[in-house]
Amino acid sequence: METGTANGTKQNGKPVANGGSDNPKGNAKRENYLNWPDYFMAVAYLSSMRSKDPCTQVGACIVNSDNKIVGIGYNGMPMGCNDDEFPWGKTSEKKVENKYFYVCHAEMNAIMNKIVGELKGCRIFVALFPCNECAKLIIQSGIREVIYLSDKNWNKDECIATRKMFDAAGVVYTKYLPTTQKITIDFSSIDWDTMGQEPPTPKKKRELP
Ligand code: ZN
Repeated sequence: METGTANGTKQNGKPVANGGSDNPKGNAKRENYLNWPDYFMAVAYLSSMRSKDPCTQVGACIVNSDNKIVGIGYNGMPMGCNDDEFPWGKTSEKKVENKYFYVCHAEMNAIMNKIVGELKGCRIFVALFPCNECAKLIIQSGIREVIYLSDKNWNKDECIATRKMFDAAGVVYTKYLPTTQKITIDFSSIDWDTMGQEPPTPKKKRELP
């Protein structure tokens, strides 16, 4: 976990090694690791890549006060509703032939997928500001904060209703500016030869004559 320390600072009265010239033996942690908020938003984004929705892919990641992920979801059809058979369009004159009656939003799925008993006090990271239906679920689940990237639907009635409910219920909503614009996952980039976490295998002692 980040300590917020910088070169030359002290923690519990002891100097903190922080790489560079202060770290001649290479004992310091690496510094360009993902911070928690970027990490959680990236997890939400990665989850959205599972979505079959041709127009809108959204992921959500719920995090507890210990920075542990306790629920992940993306927008998709309910279980048992074949996503090759149910509609993904949104322009049919017949409402039952559009996706809206069927698709479970990312927030709903993340809440339903929770791996803990309750979500009281948790935060939810989500790419899009939640609709009013998800807002109700968020409030009822006890989630206390929503961190979102895009508010492109800000002026739609659904989002106006969301803000009304969040304000009344005391749910905090924060637009997030990532500290990095791009996170690359390149499976070929890992150098397995240098990834050893264990000490090198000791060499056999020379056998005594
Ligand atoms: Zn929603």
